[in-house]
Amino acid sequence: MYLKRLESVGFKSFAERIQVDFVPGVTAVVGPNGSGKSNITDAIRWVLGEQSAKSLRGSKMEDIIFQGSDSRRALNVAEVSLVLDNNDHAVPLDYEEISITRRVYRSGDSEFYINKQSCRLKDIVDLFMDSGLGREAFSIISQGKVEEILSSKAEERRTIFEEAAGVLKYKQRKKKAEYK
Ligand code: ATP
Ligand code: MG
Repeated sequence: MYLKRLESVGFKSFAERIQVDFVPGVTAVVGPNGSGKSNITDAIRWVLGEQSAKSLRGSKMEDIIFQGSDSRRALNVAEVSLVLDNNDHAVPLDYEEISITRRVYRSGDSEFYINKQSCRLKDIVDLFMDSGLGREAFSIISQGKVEEILSSKAEERRTIFEEAAGVLKYKQRKKKAEYK
């Protein structure tokens, strides 16, 4: 599985519809400070289910919607889509290509889609939990994450490796079953 394309409109600084094409291998995003490089990884984490405004570097979820500039009015909706190549069926769906879309309105309403079919956030989170692309995915190492991994307690560090190894899902299911 690999990330083929990111499309966005209204997400943070991307007022216009943007499309970023990725190829297998290394893609480097370069640009001056404040030009939106980190906003691209924020968009990826958001569409995969990130629920914490703080970890998207805002104070409330609304902060991810384009807030306007000198020359442009603020928008009322932000939308991000990720297109994944799933030829290896790493994501357990019978599709060669998977698109995930998340939309949020200033009113707070959210919508989620898998291959243009409306779904719940949970469906997206569950789908990616073991793929290394989950919402807590350590396939995205942000500034500060390295430090966090090095300084976290042994138990927290273990959770990180459990998700990376794909066993966290089973642990969570076990816990749920025990509560019933
Ligand atoms: P650096 O090199 O400093 O890490 P960067 O390229 O990673 O910079 P980002 O942090 O991705 O830059 O982008 C920050 C920019 O995004 C700021 O100019 C900020 O004003 C803008 N921005 C963030 N949220 C919004 C929003 N809701 N509406 C409009 N612009 C926004
Ligand atoms: Mg940055």
